[in-house]
Amino acid sequence: MDCIFCKIATREIPATVVYEDDHVIAFEDIQKVAPIHTLVVPKMHLTSIIELPYDNTALLTSIQKAILHITKTTGVDQSGFRVITNSGTSAGQTVFHLHYHIIGGRDLQVSLG
Ligand code: 5GP
Ligand code: ZN
Repeated sequence: MDCIFCKIATREIPATVVYEDDHVIAFEDIQKVAPIHTLVVPKMHLTSIIELPYDNTALLTSIQKAILHITKTTGVDQSGFRVITNSGTSAGQTVFHLHYHIIGGRDLQVSLG
């Protein structure tokens, strides 16, 4: 499958990886919108959050662990941050492999869209 995040997960395409376990990989966004802008990405290909079954507790646990690790190590757990996952074109999704943006390190606009 020609998916850029699958290729980052298998290290075919380089990225600045900041966290990894059996189920997820996290790396810096190539086009940061804030000083902290990290993507948490399941290693398995899921198009968006609507393909993530609620009973995949191993993956859900890994996603939450990654978010806690990244927010703690960058310090945004103290200052504040936002977690965003876009699903579908109307939401602005451009990479159709599930990912969670962790954004922080500056004051964010109080806007949800
Ligand atoms: P979306 O718009 O789908 O929610 O977010 C996709 C994100 O992936 C964007 O913020 C974009 O900058 C990032 N991105 C796209 N291609 C690459 C890449 O090759 N490497 C990295 N590190 N980030 C990418
Ligand atoms: Zn993929």
